[in-house]
Amino acid sequence: MTLRRNSKPLRIGGLTIGGSSPIRIQSMTKTDTRDVAATINQIRRLEEYGCEIIRCAVPDMEAAEALGVIKRSIHIPLIADIHFDYRLALASLKAGVDGLRLNPGNLRNLEQIAAVVQAAKERETPIRIGVNAGSLPPSFEGDSGPQRMVAAAKEQINFLEALDFDLIKVSLKAFDIPQTIAAYRAIAQDTPYPLHLGITEAGLPFEGSIRSALGIGILLWEGIGDTIRVSLTADPVLEVQAGYEILKCLNLREYGPTLVSCPTCGRAEIDLLPIADEVRGHLKGIRKPLKVALCACVVNGPGEARCADVGLAGGKRKGAIFRKGKVVKVTDEDKLAEALREEIDQI
Ligand code: SF4
Repeated sequence: MTLRRNSKPLRIGGLTIGGSSPIRIQSMTKTDTRDVAATINQIRRLEEYGCEIIRCAVPDMEAAEALGVIKRSIHIPLIADIHFDYRLALASLKAGVDGLRLNPGNLRNLEQIAAVVQAAKERETPIRIGVNAGSLPPSFEGDSGPQRMVAAAKEQINFLEALDFDLIKVSLKAFDIPQTIAAYRAIAQDTPYPLHLGITEAGLPFEGSIRSALGIGILLWEGIGDTIRVSLTADPVLEVQAGYEILKCLNLREYGPTLVSCPTCGRAEIDLLPIADEVRGHLKGIRKPLKVALCACVVNGPGEARCADVGLAGGKRKGAIFRKGKVVKVTDEDKLAEALREEIDQI
């Protein structure tokens, strides 16, 4: 991994992003923001799974006004997602949000943007310039995809800086991964502001997680990125879980359990799949880092199990259970899941 890009730290509510802060996990609510109770419930559930920043869509004035109650009922920074109508940004700021996301593709009137920037400045509220390949300003149509995205972001950065505003974060999201990577690489060279990473409209959980892991992962590996969101057509809890998996895969954050399990093959001496499924279910509520390794035979089993907090090495319809590198039990195949649960609970 290359050294992390030295971005300008930025406060969003009670949280610092950028600089040497941990890479933060972000998600977006999928409820109707005007349904305050449902939105608060969803955010609280996301908080339980480690979501650190939440964004809500603001389609109309009722949604903007709802943000005040939502903000007072949650514990993580709240971002208002604004498109088309600058008055929604002003109302969201008035409601007390911790940040705005403005899309330069559909908020083009400079006087209106200036009014939003002035109000954000008075409240010291940051603005994310959130470029999306699907809604680029028409003025950059001649350039390639990444060039257009970077140009759109830079135009807005320059405008905000000219208004003496630097509480800025930038994102350049596209569905196409090479395009996204090229755009972020270019902007990372060109601006000190923290970058929010994401692959837009990435898809259903299986495809979307792979796309996001590749796009976000490659950039993070290059030291680019300060916050991430995995965009999935799914329960947003999965977005948060996928986000942490990406950070854990690159050793960028420790969070919750890590399950190592062998794919099984013709050497397998126990039926690992139901055991792995059961253990994964049991790990769900755990937030502390914990490594569990499950292997179905003695080829890699003892080695992997010894390196984990709790491990299993299968053999001849039995299995050896390891805790912190030592065998603590050998038991029959039908009791292995229970024995693993017990060891996990003890840790
Ligand atoms: S640990 Fe054993 S069963 Fe699992 S994949 Fe390797 S050789 Fe096959």
